[in-house]
Amino acid sequence: MSDRDDFKRTIVYGENAVGHLRKNEIPAYPRNYELWYTYAAGFNHALNKSINDVIRARGKISPNELDRVYEQYIAPTRIGERIDEVGGRLSQEINGVAGLIETQMASTSIYSSSLGDAKTALAGAKDAVAIESIVSGLMSATHETERVNHQLERQLTESRRQIAELQESLEAIRYESLVDDLTTLANRKHFDQSLDRILAETDQSETPFSLLFTDIDHFKKFNDTFGHQTGDQVLRLVALAVKQNIKGQDIAFRYGGEEFAVILPRTALEQSVVVAEHIREAVFSKELVKRSTGENLGRITISIGVSEWRPGDTAQSIIERADTCLYAAKNGGRNQVRWTVETPTNEHGSKVA
Ligand code: GH3
Ligand code: MG
Ligand code: MG
Repeated sequence: MSDRDDFKRTIVYGENAVGHLRKNEIPAYPRNYELWYTYAAGFNHALNKSINDVIRARGKISPNELDRVYEQYIAPTRIGERIDEVGGRLSQEINGVAGLIETQMASTSIYSSSLGDAKTALAGAKDAVAIESIVSGLMSATHETERVNHQLERQLTESRRQIAELQESLEAIRYESLVDDLTTLANRKHFDQSLDRILAETDQSETPFSLLFTDIDHFKKFNDTFGHQTGDQVLRLVALAVKQNIKGQDIAFRYGGEEFAVILPRTALEQSVVVAEHIREAVFSKELVKRSTGENLGRITISIGVSEWRPGDTAQSIIERADTCLYAAKNGGRNQVRWTVETPTNEHGSKVA
């Protein structure tokens, strides 16, 4: 919700990470710190399990084993490195094709000079033997050119296939770089880009767009009571409730840990508040039951702040208004939608404090 929350949470993760480094006597190089920070945050379950398994078996984890964990669970997510790799392979392919074209051009020019030579020789040829030798020379030049052409064709086909494959990898990387793994909603980076785009596109002549900001109520307590993994399931559930209650061009984002945002293009405040109400009700209406144990986890609620675009808005100003309304919803007792800081009248069925 606020930078202050992020500050408090991440400092705890950082302190834990340093504690693990100290206990395992591992130098605090950025790579090791990143690994233990990820461990302390607990969001990468496979990584935590892998480290816990080793520690359970041997009491301690060695730098070699940490390297393995890093390579297996953190390195593959380094999108920048993967883009570099695809870029490298693409430039190799391009160099290969350029080389082929050069060979082809050289071979064509040899062929063309063989044709020229044959023409001259033909003019001076006196008998069948001479002509026959010219023809056989031409045949072998033609064969050679055909051979080079075939090779070029084969290699071009292969290159085309490789480039198409690289294109797919790039698309996959692009997709992953804009999607949140846990909820499969669009991620924060996507949000920043989309908000900038819609701000640039919106002018006074059309219906303005609106922004919803959602934060789960008392989620820290939920995590503390039922565990982080169950918390993650709830995040998926809330993401689903958001997704199921928006339509068409609206986009839902995971803005941060347990915070979601929705951009509603060409949607005025009143209609956006109705959508927000639907989302709030959808979350509130679900009684949570832990699948593995059947344990009843009760209900969770969310608070929502809504803001509508105003002329002159920047990303910061429209976010701030939604955030201020979200705070008002929290202060007003949570489980409610606010589109103004003052307690609203109940015309949208919103719970009023
Ligand atoms: P409030 O009603 O004021 O929002 O109370 P809150 O406890 O939800 O407070 P806050 O929004 O500051 O808490 C965020 C908590 O959300 C901290 C952390 O326990 C939890 N959280 C953040 N990201 C994740 C995540 O990815 N998975 C899980 N399971 N929990 C997360
Ligand atoms: Mg929060
Ligand atoms: Mg919260």
